[in-house]
Amino acid sequence: MSSAARSTDAGTTPSVEPETPVSRGVPRTRRPIGDDVSGRPLSGPVSVCVDRPILSLDRPFTYQLAEDVGAGVGSLVQVPFHGRRVRGWVLGPTDDVPARMSAVTKSLSPVRYFDEPMLELLRWMSDRYVAPLAAVIARSVPPRVASEEWAGRPAPPDAGPRRRAATHRGLHGRAGPPSPASLRSEPARLSTYRNGEALLDAIDRGDGTFVVRPAPADESAIAVACVDAALAGDRTAIVLVPEADPLPATAAAIREAFGQDVALFLGGDKRARYRMWLDIAAGRYRVVVGTRPAVFAPLSFVGLVYVHREGHALHREERSPYYHVRDVARERARIEGAVCVLAGFCPSLESTTFPRVDVEPSGRSWAPVEVVKPGPEGRSPRLVRALAQARGAFLYEPLPGYGLARVCRSCGEAAACPSCRGAIRIQAGEARCTVCEAPGRCASCGASDFGVARGGAERVHEWAQGVTRRRVVHAGTGAAPGPEAEAILVGGQEVLKDVGSPALDLVGILSADASLRRPGLSSRERAVNAWFEAAAWARRDGRVIVQTTSSNDPAVQALVMARPDRFHMSEAMRRAEAGFPAGAAVFRVAGTEELEPELEAMPHRTLLGTAAGGATVCLLALDPSDLPAFGRAVRGLAERGVVTRVEAEPHL
Ligand SMILES: [Zn+2]
Ligand SMILES: [Zn+2]
Repeated sequence: MSSAARSTDAGTTPSVEPETPVSRGVPRTRRPIGDDVSGRPLSGPVSVCVDRPILSLDRPFTYQLAEDVGAGVGSLVQVPFHGRRVRGWVLGPTDDVPARMSAVTKSLSPVRYFDEPMLELLRWMSDRYVAPLAAVIARSVPPRVASEEWAGRPAPPDAGPRRRAATHRGLHGRAGPPSPASLRSEPARLSTYRNGEALLDAIDRGDGTFVVRPAPADESAIAVACVDAALAGDRTAIVLVPEADPLPATAAAIREAFGQDVALFLGGDKRARYRMWLDIAAGRYRVVVGTRPAVFAPLSFVGLVYVHREGHALHREERSPYYHVRDVARERARIEGAVCVLAGFCPSLESTTFPRVDVEPSGRSWAPVEVVKPGPEGRSPRLVRALAQARGAFLYEPLPGYGLARVCRSCGEAAACPSCRGAIRIQAGEARCTVCEAPGRCASCGASDFGVARGGAERVHEWAQGVTRRRVVHAGTGAAPGPEAEAILVGGQEVLKDVGSPALDLVGILSADASLRRPGLSSRERAVNAWFEAAAWARRDGRVIVQTTSSNDPAVQALVMARPDRFHMSEAMRRAEAGFPAGAAVFRVAGTEELEPELEAMPHRTLLGTAAGGATVCLLALDPSDLPAFGRAVRGLAERGVVTRVEAEPHL
């Protein structure tokens, strides 16, 4: 039972440790993961992570491995465990040899699921998020389809990335088929950015974290330029996108630019995903574009880990083991000696808490932003005039529906949900409670006819139709509409996708005050992030009109200045005052009534506990430097049954 085999004390401070100096020189040599030929079989005592993903068993166990089993680091094997046969993964040789030791029964697959650098990343995750290593390993690989492991694997082991690297044909004018003309000038565009040359240099021969704020028109091109720089240096690249459907324009641009070199590791059925993983592991691709799991893509010689729209909520994994792609991407880049790029129109507050280089256009690249007071029903005269003239426009209205019920027309009582007293919203012709979704009826008399305070995307759709002669499209009707050059789109967060650069005449941002008043520590940040994504749809000489009564709010000013710096400073103060400073590690821990006093005794910044019916849930924030001790303590509490569940980085 070796705790020494786990790197509990190393690499667990995710966000405040100074970056190591830029390391220059050749990429490390790595054996491709999944290579079933060249991975050296081990023999003797090995530590094994048994596939029992619970914290109380989260430690390696030692087994005797015979050479003829043919297993090595990353092998999936069968071992006896408490009288049963269970699966496990070989972590490596160990000196921690108990007096009695069982033997590995057999190897279950010819595939090596991780190599040593990947294991370092997986251990870091287990420590950082206090998640069982078995759960982390299982999540790092798509579900296994054993028949695929034997199908169509002609690649000899030396056909890996190195040889492919020598034949790379990129955008730098090497021999090869011409690149799309539209993308040829992209590396030059990044070099006009402040610190753009430093980023290209770093991708070529160094490491470090770069926070990139692309100009709205450059979003895809900047990603292409970064990938191109990695490939030009005979390295590979991972590009992480927040969602797969619709395919983000940036993902499409990368596939167009690099063609057969690109693995799109998103969506697909179980068999296709596993097949793709095996092909990536076999070195058939030099670029992997995918959603969260692609951060574990078994690429070798990684030179770039690029997180597209880094502030997007979907970059956080919502199931156990919880993780945030931003943090895992940075750690993977550190281990690989690669550059991590965090890209977004409005980078997250978290991205300001660690050493990084900011890369941005040298001049203003956004449409001018006008701030006006909302008029009657949220229609300012200026917005109405601009809308009447616009050919293509987007009206961002984050509130859904047609309005809120105010008063019962039968009995005159204030409208409220009979079950929960929540507000009743009129949406798609139906009245429903905004809290419990019960059908909207009067709590006093049961009638369902209300006087309505109009407001919401459906109402905006209605009044916009009276203002413009263009077609008005509401996101709530029809299939996944996007912005069009000759139509007016009305919608909220759900339409803010990476659709390229639609270059609209006008973007109107409505209900800004309501967005800023939403509950939640991060709600203001989410609002500003959405505004930037909406404003990015206006062309450089178009118009962005924000309706708000709080024109001096740093959130509004961030959009006006097209710079989030001051907003970040004000949010950092709010978060610190609330006890959850940016950069702190946050956990939601559930357990018995002993839990709160146990956590109280550990070093922490903030601890909020609620108890009900013998169960306790605690929300706590701690300094990253306290994570190793916290992780050990929580695993100990799990063994005693005091901790039943740990959720890392909950949405605040
Ligand atoms: Zn209700
Ligand atoms: Zn009534």
